[in-house]
Amino acid sequence: MESKGYAALAGNSALEPFTFQRRELGSHDVALDILYGGICHSDIHQVREEWGSSLFPMVPGHEIVGRVTSIGSGVSKFSVGQLIGIGVFIDSCRECENCLKGIQQYCLNGMTGTYNTYERNTKNIAFGGYANNFVIDEAYAVHVPENLPLEGVAPLMCAGITLYSPLRHWQAGPGKKVAIMGLGGLGHMGVKFAAALGAHVTVLSHSPKKREDAMAMGAHEFLVLNSDEDFAAHKREFDLILNTVSADLNIEKYLNLVKIDGTLVLIGLPSAPMSIGAGSLISSRRSLAGSMIGGIPELQEMLDFCGKHQIVSDVEVIEPSYINEAYDRTVASDVKYRFVIDASKY
Ligand code: NAP
Ligand code: ZN
Ligand code: ZN
Repeated sequence: MESKGYAALAGNSALEPFTFQRRELGSHDVALDILYGGICHSDIHQVREEWGSSLFPMVPGHEIVGRVTSIGSGVSKFSVGQLIGIGVFIDSCRECENCLKGIQQYCLNGMTGTYNTYERNTKNIAFGGYANNFVIDEAYAVHVPENLPLEGVAPLMCAGITLYSPLRHWQAGPGKKVAIMGLGGLGHMGVKFAAALGAHVTVLSHSPKKREDAMAMGAHEFLVLNSDEDFAAHKREFDLILNTVSADLNIEKYLNLVKIDGTLVLIGLPSAPMSIGAGSLISSRRSLAGSMIGGIPELQEMLDFCGKHQIVSDVEVIEPSYINEAYDRTVASDVKYRFVIDASKY
């Protein structure tokens, strides 16, 4: 199947128009026209090879919403014309302990990413969602509620699930003080979900101009912590801190804001290792944890939750020709709050 999209042809290069082939429809495959594709900071990390060497040509994109155009002979989950969502992985081994539990993102044999890798069966390069169409095994796609604005749905497929999953896992809810570090694509979804779950929500940002937006999204407090005194004033305040910051920072200062038995969860993936003193965990029996996206059952649960609570991402819809500028603006924390590409414009 011919596909039109945008690709980076080499590391750190600008993205440009790119025509390529997707695999023919297999018996368990679904083909779709993409409607919208989100731009995640992980796309930028990989195009710019900030996580090590990447595979090129690269069509990034793992926040995909579209409509089914045809189905393979063995497909039972989708029918033509239905809305469909695709996230950060398109396959996994299907037989390890974690796959069987529905947490395919932690597949013991390695999940197959939506791009920057090879498809498991064909060994072709997997091309992502900055394109006009897609082919996916039905088991790795989810149903999208019909009542939501679709441009705001695309980012739920990565930014949404990545914050929903840890909020559920660490039981954010009434009586819990939750802090979200970084009000970007991931962070703003964290604010909306934590508020909807009934937690007390604080945003920890380095951009004072985002205060009003944060409060409108459901935050109860907005803090810009600059000095040691600022940090001291909020020592041991939070049950749960979710760090979505894409840049290197001193994580130890933030650990000290966690209450006894509380947890700081790493979600942002900057390239440099972090350093912490044992004392910052020991002194309040704190945990430092990590969390990666969510599995297929939880993706569906999250989308159903969004349909019920009318939750979508705040987006700026762009044409493909604006992708490179959108990358620079994202890195400069100048995004409100996710760039989403209109796939009808490829
Ligand atoms: P984003 O939209 O660029 O948001 C990142 C936010 O971090 C910015 O808006 C900014 O918020 C803050 N920030 C950026 N530079 C900073 C700096 N120098 N100092 C302090 N704060 C800074 O990125 P995103 O798409 O949300 O992704 C965030 C990170 O999560 C990326 O590293 C991405 O690769 C990673 N990620 C992880 C997973 C996972 O499963 N764990 C999934 C998707 C993405 P303020 O302006 O409010 O400070
Ligand atoms: Zn992502
Ligand atoms: Zn597996």
